[in-house]
Amino acid sequence: MDTNTLISQEIDMAHLSIIIPIYNEVENINLLHQKLNKVLIPLSNTYEVILINDGSKDGSKEILDEVAQKDKKIKVIHFIRNYGQTTAMMAGIDYATGDIVIPMDADLQNDPQDIPHLLNKLKEGYDVCSGWRKDRKDNAVKRNLPSRIANGLISRISGVRLHDYGCSLKAYKKDVIKGVKLYGEMHRFIPIYASWQGAKVTEIPVQHHARQFGESKYGLERTIKVVLDLIVIKFLAKYSQKPIHIFGSFALLNFLFSILSFLWMIYLKFGEGLTFTSTPLPTLSAIFFIVGFQSIFMGLIAEILMRTYYESQDKQTYIVKKTLNIEDE
Ligand code: UDP
Ligand code: MG
Repeated sequence: MDTNTLISQEIDMAHLSIIIPIYNEVENINLLHQKLNKVLIPLSNTYEVILINDGSKDGSKEILDEVAQKDKKIKVIHFIRNYGQTTAMMAGIDYATGDIVIPMDADLQNDPQDIPHLLNKLKEGYDVCSGWRKDRKDNAVKRNLPSRIANGLISRISGVRLHDYGCSLKAYKKDVIKGVKLYGEMHRFIPIYASWQGAKVTEIPVQHHARQFGESKYGLERTIKVVLDLIVIKFLAKYSQKPIHIFGSFALLNFLFSILSFLWMIYLKFGEGLTFTSTPLPTLSAIFFIVGFQSIFMGLIAEILMRTYYESQDKQTYIVKKTLNIEDE
């Protein structure tokens, strides 16, 4: 049997976890439930839908309780307050029992009808399939344009080429996101984490509908947060186990500039007869020197923090794909 048909069968039998963060989506919940049922019930897969109520204040809670009462496949997690979409998604992933995890939005902007298409990509052997809102129905200036720029930047910096990180609708094989921890706005970076760990990542265009009920919780400021988060993940991925390498390199660069400024200052004084105070070189030399020293110390502190991070939690610094003749504990 060729491996592709094997993968196909595995996916057809896989248990699915659909994960949906909800913050003030009272008018959308029942409709969402109907649309999900229409797609999920005919599938050969077993499934659960995990709805995370992220501290809604608009009556979503009561509707969710009703839906969970009627339909046992609907699992509900009520947060005590609003933590944000990323944290809600994290909770969903933590509670998910499925072999395949599919996050999406509650506001019907994503369409459950795309779920089978995502699954088809996993059948082809991919570990992650990301949705791409090719024809996005959001505000062009406030949302779509900044998002395009951010997506380009994320693609370049991460080396994982996707058009639309921000689309919630994606499908993951659970194995490749095991142990992932999300902070800030980082749910959009899960495909990057997965890819860095060796997962095969792809994307397909998905439908996108304009929001009919309720309102968007985000504007332009989100893009800025995303770009800042990007710096964090890039740093963590490359240097979290050796922070002194980046702080130290920066420090050495500063020492070099400090020495160059100093030598130039000496040359101007004795070669050209200029006084020390007639150029900014002495100040520059001192600033570079101080910044260099500070960077070394920051690097050392980061080294201590990094050891605390890994050792206090018994975290491994590597991920094993498979072992042979070694018993699992
Ligand atoms: N959401 C959430 N917590 C928040 C903000 C949003 O759980 O603090 C949910 C929201 O209910 C929706 C999804 O995250 O299901 C995406 O939010 P929204 O539609 O406002 O984002 P947009 O589509 O405008 O980017
Ligand atoms: Mg939306």
